[in-house]
Amino acid sequence: MAVYDGDDRLRYANSAFRAAYFIEPEETPLWPDLMRRNFELARGTVIRTNDFEEWLRSTQSRRGKIGYRAFETDLADGRWLWMTEAVQKNGWMLCIASDITRLKVHGRTVRQDRDQAIKASYTDELTGVANRRFVMARVEDMVEAARHGNSGCLAVFDIDNFKRINDRLGHHAGDLVLRDFAHRIHQNVRRNDCFGRVGGEEFLLVMPATGPEDALAMVERMLTVIRFSRPLPDSPDFSYTCSAGIAACVPTDSASELYRRADQALYDAKMSGRDRVRAA
Ligand code: GH3
Ligand code: MG
Ligand code: MG
Repeated sequence: MAVYDGDDRLRYANSAFRAAYFIEPEETPLWPDLMRRNFELARGTVIRTNDFEEWLRSTQSRRGKIGYRAFETDLADGRWLWMTEAVQKNGWMLCIASDITRLKVHGRTVRQDRDQAIKASYTDELTGVANRRFVMARVEDMVEAARHGNSGCLAVFDIDNFKRINDRLGHHAGDLVLRDFAHRIHQNVRRNDCFGRVGGEEFLLVMPATGPEDALAMVERMLTVIRFSRPLPDSPDFSYTCSAGIAACVPTDSASELYRRADQALYDAKMSGRDRVRAA
């Protein structure tokens, strides 16, 4: 059994959990650091990938963003666990792992294939972050929570003059820019927020329980990160920018109405010169 806080730092784990994941008695690691360390030493969770950071991005894109999740997971020592994750409103997450090694042996590969398929159906293939299907469902969740008096903001991002990047430097460079954008923003997304690609060079950031001032400050910081990025090894001076629009949830909102206001704010940002954020 283990508890993680909203920053995904381990705040409590019993001795069985610490033994399974090689955590010292007083240690309180961040979840990504713990996973990376165990992956490098081929212990703890079995992770079937050649690219750990890619795996981490895709997993983090879904971790802690819905109230409850359960899945099968296997350990390098051969044990199988049934893991449940329950997330509180304040972002703290309770994880309970049950040892199911002696149960449910049959159909294990079928269940693993199913989990892989679910993961793929929620992941954007080019960038590895959440896709339209997953992020739009989180917009629906936030709109539903707003009906019960919770705040929340939606940000729409669109890369500036992206067509020109493609035309001048080629589609491959365009793809590198898209990946760079997704990876950099992802690194600055809080665990309870959800960031995903909705199409082309357009992305959404869903920020439940966040007021407009905080959302604005966070998006401003993200635009600054992008401004300083130099994503093309063959063109070391190349830089790019993006624009963003933010809208705050109101209790009567529908997902499409909220999206429309954020999109309108994005349009204002484009019309006022790009490389900036506007709030509806
Ligand atoms: P603005 O600043 O107004 O947003 O200008 P823009 O050029 O970014 O806007 P526009 O929407 O006209 O161009 C988006 C381009 O994105 C068009 C399309 O060729 C390109 N695009 C869409 N998806 C992909 C992709 O997966 N890879 C690459 N390389 N390009 C893509
Ligand atoms: Mg666009
Ligand atoms: Mg654009």
